Amino acid sequence: MLSPRQRVILRQIVSPPYIYRWAGLLTTIALMAGVTAVVLTDVGSRQVLATGPAPAAATGPAGKPARSAADAPALGMPGMARPAITSSLLTVTDSSVEQPSVALTFDDGPTPQYTPQVLDLLAQYGVKATFCTIGNQAVAYPDLMRRILAEGHRLCDHTMTHDATVGQNNRDLIARQLSTSKRTIAEVVSPPATMDYFRAPEGAWTPALDEVAAETGMRPLGWSVDTLDWTQPGTAAIVNSVQQGMHPGAIVLFHDGGGPRDQTVEAVRQLLPWMQDQGYRFVFPS
Ligand SMILES: [Zn+2]
Repeated sequence: MLSPRQRVILRQIVSPPYIYRWAGLLTTIALMAGVTAVVLTDVGSRQVLATGPAPAAATGPAGKPARSAADAPALGMPGMARPAITSSLLTVTDSSVEQPSVALTFDDGPTPQYTPQVLDLLAQYGVKATFCTIGNQAVAYPDLMRRILAEGHRLCDHTMTHDATVGQNNRDLIARQLSTSKRTIAEVVSPPATMDYFRAPEGAWTPALDEVAAETGMRPLGWSVDTLDWTQPGTAAIVNSVQQGMHPGAIVLFHDGGGPRDQTVEAVRQLLPWMQDQGYRFVFPS
């Protein structure tokens, strides 16, 4: 019998878009009946939010200062219940096998070192993307915010300070925090920008955070292909993770801030023409 906790994990695993990433793993699990319980309780509890091809458990806490796991799934504090992935997390619905779509997302910027390089590449290939910006970064680099918007990309609130614990606060405090970050980022430019999405730092969603984001007028934005670029695994590894993990309707997680991102820029340089050759259309999450 599955415990209630295991049932929650299982329910998360089979919810789109994560089902794409888990289909192969679940098949393997089925063949490994003898260790199913171990996988669900150990690996499952660590990877349930991990949607990329590389196991989250293999990603160490390296990469970003003051962050346990950057935008990788929150691996959980001892005794802390895992955040639930709620049904309102966005997927790309405008997609089919015949005419597949992909949404590219760039988190933790803007940064003067990397965001312009990413924007140059997106412009070169005529690709639109979503930038999950940190409030303090947006305030520091208004020119980059203006450029992001002027070139047709969309914005996503990623909190003022990349606060991965925001979802653990009570609803009133979450509402104040999200209202502040949304307004601050939007009003960096004039007229204020539209803030379409909210993405929880480190993917640390809670039901309250999901709900308050929606109440604040921002759609909760997840991802289905985690490049793990923040671990700086090498350009080839980032490229490979995308090429192996791509699927129609993919939401791909990159970072244009939070640390050295030269590998990300180079990977994007290689991946944009590859995605186009594969027939992918670039869309916004919807
Ligand atoms: Zn982030």
